[in-house]
Amino acid sequence: MDQRFYQTLLDAITDGVYFVDTNKNITYWNKSAERLSGYTAEEVVGNVCSEKLLRHETEDGCVLCNNGCPLSATLKDGKERQENLFMHHKLGHKIPINVQAYPMIGPDGNIAGAVEIFSENNESLNVRREMEVLRKEVLTDKLTGIGNRRYAEITMRNLDFAMEQNHAPFGILFIDIDDFKLVNDTYGHHAGDNVLRMVAQNMSKSLRFLDVLCRWGGEEFVIFIPNTTFSTLSVLAERLRLLIQNSWLMHENQKISVTASFGGAIARSHEPSSTVLSRADKQLYLSKDSGRNCIYIDIPEQKKVASSNC
Ligand code: GH3
Ligand code: MG
Ligand code: MG
Repeated sequence: MDQRFYQTLLDAITDGVYFVDTNKNITYWNKSAERLSGYTAEEVVGNVCSEKLLRHETEDGCVLCNNGCPLSATLKDGKERQENLFMHHKLGHKIPINVQAYPMIGPDGNIAGAVEIFSENNESLNVRREMEVLRKEVLTDKLTGIGNRRYAEITMRNLDFAMEQNHAPFGILFIDIDDFKLVNDTYGHHAGDNVLRMVAQNMSKSLRFLDVLCRWGGEEFVIFIPNTTFSTLSVLAERLRLLIQNSWLMHENQKISVTASFGGAIARSHEPSSTVLSRADKQLYLSKDSGRNCIYIDIPEQKKVASSNC
């Protein structure tokens, strides 16, 4: 069989295939390698594969070009290998792949080069997608679409860790819709559900990327705000209070609108998030006692009313 026969055969298979010589110079690059990587044969043949090309890396982001590359290891010891890795497409994004490396033995019995066969690792793609869907399902509140109580608890653990590691300051706002029982009693439970959804979605859309809003339970919400100060927490709370007060939805030709009471606290150095949360909860009670639709935020020296409404 002549060389053209093998080339046609290799171009017909769906896996990417390339050969390297003992100096890791690429000597052959098939059509599927072009399709999977975005690089044409003209672009890569003659180049050294460790130079900015596929940049194989492990799941945790460790680049293997000069250290741990399966093809290099096969060139050295002549052994076959198979690994699940990631490679970089020419456009920059990463693709999960299954890599097989085989030695090519010359007529003299020595290693003359190596061949790598790589294919898209669909199993890894599917597992990742499924994990992402599951994670979302488990941590999302079904009614409102924001984080649920479990997500709040995970966030608290993360905040505690960040506090231990680098004293990262954070604030917590506890929010409770006022007289919500009355909304249910007047308009029905279904309308009450719609109000909860409206309040949650309105707040969610007006937060920063790193702020985490969760439904704590019933008509209670909690927001975790990293890197905040008393004044930014107060400004945020007042903005949300007004947003809730000024929003409404239509139910059988009637406008339903609600207000909410707020309690807030800023973490002290080394203070666990559960303690910050209970300080915020105490402030929420003060807001309720002061007539509702207002904000109290705990600061070390004094209790301060942040809202002009109380
Ligand atoms: P306050 O201003 O003191 O907070 O009064 P409130 O009426 O809001 O508080 P209360 O604790 O008396 O009532 C909370 C109500 O929230 C009662 C409960 O039926 C309702 N609720 C809790 N979860 C849901 C829900 O998922 N959907 C609906 N529609 N109502 C809910
Ligand atoms: Mg409540
Ligand atoms: Mg309430």
